Amino acid sequence: MSIGFVPTMGALHKGHASLLKIASSYSDLVVCSIFVNPTQFNDPTDLEKYPRQDDKDIEFLVALGVDVLYLPAVEDVYPPSLNTAIDVTMNGLDAVMEGKFRPGHFKGVLEVVHRLLDIVKPHHLYMGQKDYQQFTLIAQMIKQLQIPVELRVCPIVRANNGLALSSRNALLSEAEKEQAAVIFETLSVAKELIGHQDTVDISAFCLSKIEKAGLRPEYFEIVSAHTLNNKEDTAPRVACVAAYLGTVRLIDNSILYKTSEPNGDYFVPMV
Ligand code: AMP
Repeated sequence: MSIGFVPTMGALHKGHASLLKIASSYSDLVVCSIFVNPTQFNDPTDLEKYPRQDDKDIEFLVALGVDVLYLPAVEDVYPPSLNTAIDVTMNGLDAVMEGKFRPGHFKGVLEVVHRLLDIVKPHHLYMGQKDYQQFTLIAQMIKQLQIPVELRVCPIVRANNGLALSSRNALLSEAEKEQAAVIFETLSVAKELIGHQDTVDISAFCLSKIEKAGLRPEYFEIVSAHTLNNKEDTAPRVACVAAYLGTVRLIDNSILYKTSEPNGDYFVPMV
């Protein structure tokens, strides 16, 4: 019997539902975890205001027919007597984009996913393309530590205006959600311009478009889809963006070459 695992931080939405549905169509038993992992938040205020709604999430999971919910306390994931630190060589994957703007973030992400995999022991791990750099690092960790699990990456689910669904969207007003659609617009622009214009110019154009819409961009990078290096001029490439709207930090990405796009419900990343 195969176990499919979908780790989340709760405040569940249709993006999570999509992962859970894909998991249930490919794995015999689906486990979802909800755990707002303190070690991956570099900003204490961000951790404090992260949306939490366990009761609503439980109803959501029951309606979806998810088999098991793992809802641990911090002490379950990090028992004081256990050394949960892990040692993985990141090959620079953690030095750019999210790694640069959120110091320590990926150390916490790898630590919690490693711990959850050890507890749940799934055959398949389902993650979203939404967190592109995250799944790339998890793939590295699985490979280096030879963890017996297959990572399956599922497509980004978006609202009608293109805004990628995110638990953080709950912190935005309806007007702000419309404003935030500029992020997806820039990714579409990048998809059109790639191959016709220099990637540095495309990034600069997209950054200024985001700024003009009233957001505060942190980065708009066009990088190798495998190494996350922005100097590598080989396909496939991915455009990754992070921007603040007020105090809410949003991220999104788009793979820029059709050939690298998933042709089924999920894709298995190459590392
Ligand atoms: P989170 O609860 O934000 O930590 O996300 C849990 C999982 O859901 C991660 O693997 C995310 O990449 C994935 N995810 C979040 N938002 C989306 C989305 N809009 N579409 C697809 N997957 C998503």
